[in-house]
Amino acid sequence: MRNVEAAPVCSRPEPTRTESPIRALTFDGDPGFQRVLRERVAAYFATTGQRPRDCWQVYAKTAILLGSFAGLYALLVFGARTWVEGVPLAILLGLCAAGIGLNIQHDGGHRAYSSAPWVNRLMAMTLELIGGSSYLWRWKHGVFHHTYVNITGHDTDIELGYLARLAPQQRRLTFHRWQHLYLWPLYGLLTIKWQCLDDFRKLVRGRINEHRVPRPTGWELVIFIGGKAVFFALAFGIPMHFHAPAVVLGYYALSGIVMGFLLSVVFQVAHCVEEAEFPAPRPSTGRVDHAWAVHQAETSVDFSRQSRLLSWLLGGLNFQIEHHLFPRISHVHYPAIAGLVEQTCREFGIRYRTHPSFRAGIGSHFRWLRRMGMPNTMGQP
Ligand SMILES: [Zn+2]
Repeated sequence: MRNVEAAPVCSRPEPTRTESPIRALTFDGDPGFQRVLRERVAAYFATTGQRPRDCWQVYAKTAILLGSFAGLYALLVFGARTWVEGVPLAILLGLCAAGIGLNIQHDGGHRAYSSAPWVNRLMAMTLELIGGSSYLWRWKHGVFHHTYVNITGHDTDIELGYLARLAPQQRRLTFHRWQHLYLWPLYGLLTIKWQCLDDFRKLVRGRINEHRVPRPTGWELVIFIGGKAVFFALAFGIPMHFHAPAVVLGYYALSGIVMGFLLSVVFQVAHCVEEAEFPAPRPSTGRVDHAWAVHQAETSVDFSRQSRLLSWLLGGLNFQIEHHLFPRISHVHYPAIAGLVEQTCREFGIRYRTHPSFRAGIGSHFRWLRRMGMPNTMGQP
C-alpha cells in the first residue's frame, strides 16, 4: 500500500502567477473524471506494488544513453578520420542527444524520475549537456505548455512565429499555403536556434513569447551560464583542437538537425494533428469550456501504443495523453495505465484518440499543416 500515498497523480503544473501580461485562464469544474482516474491509477500502484518513480528501468536506460553519448562523442572527436566514419557517428550522436532529452531530462524536469528532488534536478540538468536550459524549459514546457495545451497565445510550444500556422486561432499568412512542405527541413534547425539563440533571448527579455518569467538568479543563473559554457566547449571548443572549424561546424549542424527533427516531430505528432482539439477560451471571461483534465486528454493524441521499442526510445511520449494527465509518474508506467485512462475517458464521453503507428501520426500532422495553411479554414478570414 505504500505507493498509494506516494502516487502524485493527475495534477496540474505549478501556478503561473508571473505570467502577466497574459490573462490567466480558468477551467470548468471537473465532472468527476479526474477523481475517478486518480483512484484507478492509485489502485494500479497499490495492487501491483510498483513505484510511480525511481524505476530501475529508467536508471538502466540513463546509464545506456549517457554511456552511448560519451562513447559516440569520443569516437567522433578523437577517433573518426574520414567522413565515412564521421557522418554516421554524428547522426547517432544527434539521435542519442534526443534520447537523453526524451527519456532522462523530460522525466527529471517533470519530477517524475525520482521521489528525491535532487535526483530530479540532476536528471533535468542533462538538458544543459545537450545545449538547453533546464530553468527556461521548466517554464516553457512544464508550466505554459502543460497547463494550456493547444491554446493559442498561452501554449508556447505551438508558437512558431511567422513560420507556421499550427492552430486555427493563429493568423494565416499567404505563404503558409506551403507550410506542409517547407516546415520539415526547418524542424531540423529548431534545436540549433534554441541552443545558440532562443535561450539567450529569453534570458535578456525575461519573457517566453508573451509570458513574463522571472530571470534566473543565484544558482539558477550559475547553472544557465555554466551549462551553456560546457555545451559550447563540448560542441566547438574541444573538437576545434583536433579538427578544422568547418569540419566541426558541419558535424555540429548534422547532429543538431537530426536531434531537432526528431524532437519536433515527436511533439507535433502528439498535439498538432487532425484529431487534437484547439480550444479557444471565452474572450469575455478567459474561461475554458472544459475541466483541466478533460482539456489535457482532448488536446493530446497517442501513437504506436503497441510498440515497445518506440516506447523505450521515445521515453513513453507516444503515450501523450497519459503523460499530460500524469506528468509526475515515470514514463515506464504509461503503457500499463493507458487502458485505465482510455476506459475512463470512454465512460465520461471524453475523446481519446490514438494513431496505430508513428507514420500514421506523421501523416495526420502533414494533413493538419496543409489544412491550416489553406485560406478560409476553421473560421479564419
Ligand atoms: Zn512534458
